[in-house]
Amino acid sequence: MTETFEKIQWPNQARCAVMLSFDLDGDTIWANGNRSYTGGEDFIRSTSIGDYGPKRSAPRILELLDRHRLKGTFFVPAKVVEENPELLQTIDRAGHEIGHHGYRHERFVDLTREEQKEIILHSQDIFQRVIGKKARGYRTPSGDWSRETAGLLNEPGFSYSSSMRGDDRPYRTIIDGQITDFIEIAPKWDLDDFVQFGYNIFPAEPAGQDRISGIEHVYDNFRQEFDGYYRFGLCFVLLMHPQIIGKPGRIMMLERLLQHMKSHEDIWFATGEEIAAWWRANH
Ligand SMILES: [Zn+2]
Repeated sequence: MTETFEKIQWPNQARCAVMLSFDLDGDTIWANGNRSYTGGEDFIRSTSIGDYGPKRSAPRILELLDRHRLKGTFFVPAKVVEENPELLQTIDRAGHEIGHHGYRHERFVDLTREEQKEIILHSQDIFQRVIGKKARGYRTPSGDWSRETAGLLNEPGFSYSSSMRGDDRPYRTIIDGQITDFIEIAPKWDLDDFVQFGYNIFPAEPAGQDRISGIEHVYDNFRQEFDGYYRFGLCFVLLMHPQIIGKPGRIMMLERLLQHMKSHEDIWFATGEEIAAWWRANH
């Protein structure tokens, strides 16, 4: 089987690009879900699922990446940045990229233009204060944004987003009919660990219940997808959540997947910002 599209010439003669991304959401997604219930702020068992990410998984993930000499891209709600300054400084010092992910994982599609702007800028101030620089990348929390969001991000100089789903190569975002320098690096639901493993009994996640996938099956899904991206020379974006992938058995699965990828010599492992900058300069 051959690719029907023009072959991408990745840096260093690499055959495909790999972006290892981690949404360090902390308890924000669970707290947001609880808000729709009367007394939901007391559902502390659900929020403790999220706490596991910064508390237990993130150091494990950093150790794994360090041992394999790989750089990750961490999208972090600014509230989690505020609450875990030392962890975020450790991630930054290790050379990983830290990207914008809202303040408390808001659904941007539900917000007015002004509300979105306020969250974007306020969160950037927190990044500046805690890690000494603003984010260059953005991943929309909870999956969707509004018609204004891309323009609001492009104005103050974000480099890229990793939010949409519609391509397996980076592309320039069209804003108000204009092709811009703002790059999209689209992840996929099928490469998202939350979709495979995310679970809570109440409030129910997933809504219809019944999902904790077998580790072997998830490994097989991720590996076979990677093999396809490698075959066709594309941009493989793994979308992980420390609270999900950083558990003891699953992080061993992630290591096995990294070893499979690294068994090919011609892979370009890169952060979102590296991929965006390279794409902008060459496409
Ligand atoms: Zn998230």
